[in-house]
This record gives sequence, C-alpha cells and structure tokens, in this order.
Amino acid sequence: MRIESDPKLDFKDVLIRPKRSTLASRSNVDINRQFNFVHTGRTWSGFPLIAANMDVTGTIPMAKTLARMGAMVALHKYYSPEQLVAFFNSEESKNTFYTIGTNEADWEKLALVKKQAPVKMICLDVANGYTEKFVEMVSRAREQNKDAVIMAGNVVTGDMTEALILAGADIVKVGIGPGSVCTTRKMTGVGYPQLSAVIECADAAHGLKGQVCADGGCTVAGDIAKAYGGGADFVMLGGMLAGHDECEGELRYEERDGEQVPTSMVFYGMSSDTAMNKYAGGVAKYRASEGKTVEVPYRGAAEATMQEIMGGVRSMMTYIGATSLKEVSKRTTFVMVGAQLNNVFG
Ligand code: 5GP
Repeated sequence: MRIESDPKLDFKDVLIRPKRSTLASRSNVDINRQFNFVHTGRTWSGFPLIAANMDVTGTIPMAKTLARMGAMVALHKYYSPEQLVAFFNSEESKNTFYTIGTNEADWEKLALVKKQAPVKMICLDVANGYTEKFVEMVSRAREQNKDAVIMAGNVVTGDMTEALILAGADIVKVGIGPGSVCTTRKMTGVGYPQLSAVIECADAAHGLKGQVCADGGCTVAGDIAKAYGGGADFVMLGGMLAGHDECEGELRYEERDGEQVPTSMVFYGMSSDTAMNKYAGGVAKYRASEGKTVEVPYRGAAEATMQEIMGGVRSMMTYIGATSLKEVSKRTTFVMVGAQLNNVFG
C-alpha cells in the first residue's frame, strides 16, 4: 500500500487570484476557442462547454439551443436511428457529439446512422476508462471513423490520458466520481479530486497535442472558470443544465393560484436504479447502482442559464486580464483556501 501526500484539489479548495490588467470591460473578452484536433486535422471553434450525454440533458432540443449559443452537446444514446439520421443531417447538429458505449448495439446503430448522415464527432463513454478493453475500443473507433473527432473517457491520471490519445482519442474526458448524481466514491472508495485530475490530465494531453474535457463536479459558474484555469479545453455539465425546457426529464408540478405550475424536474445518474430500470431492465446482480435520483428546481429556458455561465467566465477573464479563453490557464494562479464562500445568508 502507498500513500501520496502532495495535495490534490477540488474546485472548492481553491480560488483564482486576481491579476493586474489593462482590460477595460468584460465585453472585450473572447470566450470562444479554436481547436485543431490531433488525429483528424479538423478544426472547431466556439464556446467549449458540453451538455452531458445523460438522458435528461443530452437531448436534441438542448443541442439546438446550445448550438445557437456556440456551445456543444453530447447526445444521449437512446434516440432511434431515424431520429439521429434526421438530426445529423441538419445544420443544427454541427456542435453535437454522437455517444457510444461498450455495447455492440451502439456500434451497429452508429454504423447505420453514418450510412445516411454525417457524424463528425463521437463521444466514447464508459464509467471506467482504465481497462485494456477500453483502449482497444478507442483504437477500433479511430480505425472505423478516421475523420471524426473522438472524445473518450473517463480517466483521471496523466498516464491513461496519454494512452487514450495514442490509441486515437482527440479529446480525453476527465472525471471519476465528482458528478452531482454520482455515488461511485461512496460505493467504491475510488476517485480523484477533480481540479487536480484536470490539471494533471491537461498537462499530459497537451504534451501530445490532444485536449481534455473536464467532466463532472461543476456546481456554479466559478467552478467552470476554475476548470478552464486548470487547463481544461472543454467542460461538460450535467446537473447545472438539468431542470430546463430543453431537457427530457419528468416535471413535477405544484398548484399555485388554482394553476398547475412546474416546480422541479427529476434528474438521475446514468448508472442509477432509475436509469437501469428504464434502459437495462433493472440493476444487474453483479453490479451496484452508482448513481442517485434527485429533483432539481425547474429553471425554464437553458439560454438564461447559459448566459449566466458565459457572463461568469467573461468576468473571471477580466479579473485575471485574459483577453481570450486560450490565455486563461496561463494567467491563472490558484490559491488554496480553507473556505471560499460567505454563507451567512444560506
Ligand atoms: P455533473 O455536471 O452533474 O456534476 O456531472 C455530470 C457527469 O457525471 C456526467 O457527464 C458523467 O460523467 C457523470 N455521471 C452521470 N451519471 C452518473 C452515474 O450514474 N454514476 C457516475 N459515477 N457518474 C455519473
């Protein structure tokens, strides 16, 4: 047994130190980035934020709204081939990842959809990206989709980030256990503080001209700012985008003044009992559920939440004097803190 004793950090453990700058206003900063992907030579530009491929948030309506705002969506896996073909043939799909897992049926469906529609970005998603089989899957996905951007994960360490990029991933998805509806850490004791995972994996990926996506654990716009500060090229959000009109979640209503109004939405982890009962006919005996089911407040259109997030990122950039999002990590100094918020009013 070994113990690593250098500090490993979560978003809550740090703040970003302000820096002198000549920036006049937050309207002078550019929150878009342009990437060249290492295996495809393809480029992409926009605001590098991705709605998670969870069935509540990774929806076609979410993809339409976020594409309009320059951001991205990883679609959930449960659309029919017909729905996927129609969507991927539309202009609105330009910022959308097609998601596959380990299941052969997912690969067959992708092959079918690809015959009838262009699929330019693929998210290869498993809970544990540390198996030899997963590395082989990334190679296979690269072999079969030579010109598609491939995002693969999840992992939390530099060695495995490198292995996935060398196997064919352009973007490595980082995060084990930080998610809002994830219970992996509780059930297994396995995980890695998310900010340190992002810092270490970004360093490894950038050395190979790859990118990373910080996946999970962002609870407020400031956490997204910290993820970019730590070197994340992309940030993926589940919980922060749940509860919106674009979601496919069950709404809960309350009666107010004689009218039924939506007040909350059901949201759950993709390996929760709820998801497994819905898609896999129940929780298999050999595995425990590693996700929970919660209700999040109903929040209307996703556009307002996105504006708030984008406003937070812009403001962070003016505090540290970064004119473009690309400069953010170079201009970031984190300070470790014991407490970061004043909670006197809750
Ligand atoms: P959030 O933004 O809600 O904190 O995190 C979203 C991420 O949580 C997803 O992109 C995915 O990586 C992870 N996730 C989603 N469902 C589950 C689950 O049931 N179990 C675990 N361990 N992680 C999950």
